[in-house]
Amino acid sequence: MDPSTRVVRPISEADPTFGGLVPPIYPSTTYRRATDGSYPGGHSYSRDQNPTTEPAEQMLATLEEGAEALLFSSGMAAAAALLDSCEPGTHVVAPRHMYWTMRRWFESEVARGRLAGLTLVDATDPEAWRTAFDNRVAPGAPLLAWIETPANPTGDITDLLAVSELAHEAGAVVVADNTVATPAHTRPIEFGVDVVFHSATKQLNGHGDVLAGALVCAAPDALWDRVRHERGYRGAVLGPFEAWLLLRGMRTLFLRVRQSSASAALIADALANHQGLRSVLYPGLSHHPHHDVAARQMHDGFGMLLSIRLRGGAEAARRVLGRLELFTDATSLGSVESLVEHRSMVEGAGTPVPDDLLRLSIGIEHAADLLSDLRQALDPER
Ligand code: PLP
Repeated sequence: MDPSTRVVRPISEADPTFGGLVPPIYPSTTYRRATDGSYPGGHSYSRDQNPTTEPAEQMLATLEEGAEALLFSSGMAAAAALLDSCEPGTHVVAPRHMYWTMRRWFESEVARGRLAGLTLVDATDPEAWRTAFDNRVAPGAPLLAWIETPANPTGDITDLLAVSELAHEAGAVVVADNTVATPAHTRPIEFGVDVVFHSATKQLNGHGDVLAGALVCAAPDALWDRVRHERGYRGAVLGPFEAWLLLRGMRTLFLRVRQSSASAALIADALANHQGLRSVLYPGLSHHPHHDVAARQMHDGFGMLLSIRLRGGAEAARRVLGRLELFTDATSLGSVESLVEHRSMVEGAGTPVPDDLLRLSIGIEHAADLLSDLRQALDPER
């Protein structure tokens, strides 16, 4: 059965009392204990497990073809639980172009001595990963390879299979941030990744009304056990109402992703040779430098994230952004409405993002409307 069929099947086992097709919301924080000390309902306290969160976790594990999933109160909370579960003295290898808060947080963890080292690489080049693994901070230091593909906001593509193989040879744990691709396009575990990470705040939920994070493991192991405990100790769990909304959002994932991706591809194609643009960064374009790798590991499209680089630098970028009417100037991505952001301004000094770049998150509006809005913003005279 195709995953797009599986996610919309009734989840009736989650409501054994009335047989409802969608699960109820269980707000109770605590559960009755039997006289022998056991929990007949299988639940004790909602910092450890919650019956509304569990079907959402199962659905995500199914979507990613992983063994188990854990939900967190945000993407960053999920990343923190993972990093804190790694061996002391871990060295992280990560892309130079990646979600900026994650990169800055890695940097701050090194500065505070909580990570032994961090190497930022040109993630599109497997050899750069190999060199970074070889030159870790100390021979034999535990390694974490953090992949993000397509990268936010440049759309850089990392070869999941090649980097996973190299990382495993070096003894690294491999994590892939699959927020931008979503399992509707890429299932990183198929390519050897150990743990899939999500900001579920984005397209997994898809409606801009839930902050959530997730981890999915290929196979439970000692690291996964520590992650589960870490979540319980810190209490960075997702509340039952948010878990329920996320579950509802995931059931329409494929529809939304197909629509947004098809529109992004159409817009990228239509603007690829626009005179006002230095370039359109979209892995679906056949002339994208890593299109072949993207085509190997992405199916049914190339995602909703596309960036444009303006001739005329930061000023031109700000001008175009100011003329857009359908795209809202707001942070985040992967919701039903299209968003635009001047990333270098947001990220500030030290960002590797060029100052002429506008990041577009393509929503589910009609593609023709989005394209004509971009055209009028780029060519106000016409
Ligand atoms: N990873 C990517 C690619 C993101 O875009 C974001 C948020 O924008 C995150 C991780 C962090 O997730 P959250 O905002 O849910 O903590």
